[in-house]
Order: sequence, then structure tokens, then C-alpha cells
Amino acid sequence: MNIIVCIKQVPDTSEVSIDPETNTIVREGVPAIINPFDENAIEQAVQMVEEHGGKVTVLSMGPPQAEAALREALAMGADEAILVSDRCFAASDTLATSYVLSTAIREIGDYDLIFCGKQAFDGDTAQVPPGIAEHLGIPQVTFAIGIEVDGRKVRVRRLLEDEFETVEVKMPALISVVKQINEPRRPGIKAKLAAKKKEVKVWDASCIDADACLCGFDGSPTRVVRTFAPSRNTEGKKYEGEPKEVATAVVEALIAEKII
Ligand SMILES: Cc1cc2nc3c(=O)[nH]c(=O)nc-3n(C[C@H](O)[C@H](O)[C@H](O)COP(=O)(O)OP(=O)(O)OC[C@H]3O[C@@H](n4cnc5c(N)ncnc54)[C@H](O)[C@@H]3O)c2cc1C
Repeated sequence: MNIIVCIKQVPDTSEVSIDPETNTIVREGVPAIINPFDENAIEQAVQMVEEHGGKVTVLSMGPPQAEAALREALAMGADEAILVSDRCFAASDTLATSYVLSTAIREIGDYDLIFCGKQAFDGDTAQVPPGIAEHLGIPQVTFAIGIEVDGRKVRVRRLLEDEFETVEVKMPALISVVKQINEPRRPGIKAKLAAKKKEVKVWDASCIDADACLCGFDGSPTRVVRTFAPSRNTEGKKYEGEPKEVATAVVEALIAEKII
């Protein structure tokens, strides 16, 4: 079973702050990590290959420093790592990003499953996995909390808002996972040192035969009109007294505000 895992390097959100002047994320000096949902996707792929055999290939589109995220994935047990990186990919929106990743996946070829995280912690759109599946013309299943292989079929348990759903699709398929699916392993120093010696292939646009018109700014129909940090309303009202009276007062206030 050959599994490709798409991973994105993101700024560590616990260290991120917003510049109050420009309302943009301050990225300088902020450490980068693997998007946390993608760690679950790697863990799932490694576990399934341990059980069924095959190999795990991790794939990332990003600047040269994204190599560090791929090395982390190798330390977690991935077999091969590929970074797609080219100046013409800069300014890609989610459509262009999924196009580039899908052309890289076509170049890798011979895959049974593609795993992604549910969404990225920074961009947060959850649009890239469906975009990749659409470009490749394969079925996709989102919000996976359990994955079971049955011959050439894969049964996926989905975590919905207040229920579970089980769907079955034929392979090859793309599956995006939620964090509840597993607990990602934390590689030890030995695994990290071994990963440092492994090859991370770097592919530019010519290696994957990407059409420059579909990459970067030219391939991105999204236009960002305005960005702003949501204003924070810190005003609140504190109710004190007997629990029963306080509860009644809170409910009355919510009714008066037409919240309930
Ligand atoms: C107009 C515009 C211009 C932009 N310009 C830039 C720019 O110049 N530089 C820049 O860095 N970003 C840029 N972005 C942001 C970029 O489009 C997104 O970061 C990217 O498309 C991923 O979207 P997302 O973060 O919402 O991922 P989601 O769709 O939320 O991610 C879901 C999953 O898809 C996979 N995935 C997502 N991105 C990648 C990736 N790069 N490699 C591998 N797997 C991935 C992961 O498995 C991830 O868990 C721009 C966005 C717009 C709208």
C-alpha cells in the first residue's frame, strides 16, 4: 500500500502575534512546525504501512525551509520526502496550491491513498484536499476518524458535528483526517539523526511539468480585498448571588438580547 501524505509547514500559532498597525501575522522569528493535523495524517499512514506493507511518501509545497518539516516526517517513519519548490509557485491561492500538489502526485504515481490534514492552522480554508482530489479525478473523504482497508476498498468513519458516518470508497482516494484519529508519535533523537541523513528530493516546476499559467499569482483567481483582526469586546457582566437567582437573571438577560 503506497500512501502519499501532503504536509504543510505552518508558523507555531502559540508563538504568533498580530501586528496592530498592519493587522498581519508577525512571522519574523516565529518557529515553524508541521501543521498539527498533518502529524495525524503521517501517523495514520505510517501505522497503515506497518500493518499492510508499502511505503509512505511525504509531500510539501513551500519555500526551501519547508525541508525541516519533511525531515520531521521522515523521523516519524515516512520512507520518502519530496519538496515542490519554485519561485513561480509564490502567491498561490488554494486552487493553484492544489494544482501544484496534484501535478507532483501524478509525477510520483503508483499511489493507493493520499492523506491530508483536515485544515491548515494558518490558512485554515480546508480547500486544498478537495482541490487535489478534483484535479486528480479521484474520490475524497473528509473528517476521517477511522480508516479501514478492505481489498481495493477503504471504509472511512467520519466525525460529523453530532454523529458519525461511515462511507466506503474505491482506491485510489484522498482522505483528510481529524486530530481524534490517533496520537502522533514523538520521534526520539536516534530517529531524528537518521532522518537528517535521508534524501529530501526537491522538485521545481519543470520536474512536475506544471503549467506556469496555473501556478502562483497567474493561476490564483482569489483576490484578498481586506484583512483585519476581529475586534475584541472585553465588556462583560458579572452575576453574583444564589445560583438559582443568578441562573434566572442570566436566562432573562439572554432572552432580552434575543440570544435564546
Ligand atoms: C491570493 C492569495 C495569495 C497567497 N499567497 C501566498 C504566498 O505568497 N505564500 C504563501 O505561503 N501562501 C500564500 N497564500 C496562502 C496559500 O494559498 C495557502 O496557504 C495554501 O493554499 C493552503 O491553504 P490553507 O492554508 O487554507 O490549507 P488547507 O486547505 O486548510 O489545508 C488542508 C490540508 O491540505 C494540505 N496542504 C495545504 N497546503 C499544503 C502545502 N503547501 N503543501 C502540502 N500540503 C498542503 C495539508 O494536508 C493540510 O492539512 C495565498 C493565498 C491567497 C488567497
